[in-house]
Amino acid sequence: MRKDYFFSDLTDYVKLSPNFSVISVSKKVRRITPHCVVGHITTKSLGEMFASESKKASSNYGIDDKGTIGGYVYEYNRSWCSSSKENDEISITIECASDLTSPYKMSDTVFDTLCILSADIAKRHGFKKIKYLGSLKKTIKYEKRHPHVMTVTFHRWFASKSCPGDWFVKNIHRYVKKTNNIIKKGVK
Ligand SMILES: [Zn+2]
Repeated sequence: MRKDYFFSDLTDYVKLSPNFSVISVSKKVRRITPHCVVGHITTKSLGEMFASESKKASSNYGIDDKGTIGGYVYEYNRSWCSSSKENDEISITIECASDLTSPYKMSDTVFDTLCILSADIAKRHGFKKIKYLGSLKKTIKYEKRHPHVMTVTFHRWFASKSCPGDWFVKNIHRYVKKTNNIIKKGVK
């Protein structure tokens, strides 16, 4: 159990979900996986949903349209979020409020909050920057050679889902650039 990381200090609301797995100490946080919630729901409602055992779903964090950050699964535990044990054991998963329909657009507030939270997570886990490689294969290859760079993965790589949505996929480079700027210079 990685007891060293619970939740970011940026977390506004905590509702612990019973839907998580304990992971071995040898697994270190390596990735970040932004998701689209598919709906403009609040972090509180999302927390209530993840509090239900029958949902069998969770994420480490959630972000809503007011920019509120919810914490549901401690960073040192595995959330049940990306349809992949291998991914979620080494990733911090963040559910972001979005439109109900494709391309699942996120508001500016959600997007900006995601960048701030991502930068905080990357920094605390000792990463100098985040990087998006475009595919799982390329990501795994890159990770072996670049231990100090946190990689970004998508739910759609592990299941036939549109998550994180075409809107976010289109904005991935803006997300990476903005997050890396915050890691370097802080929030402006
Ligand atoms: Zn997802």
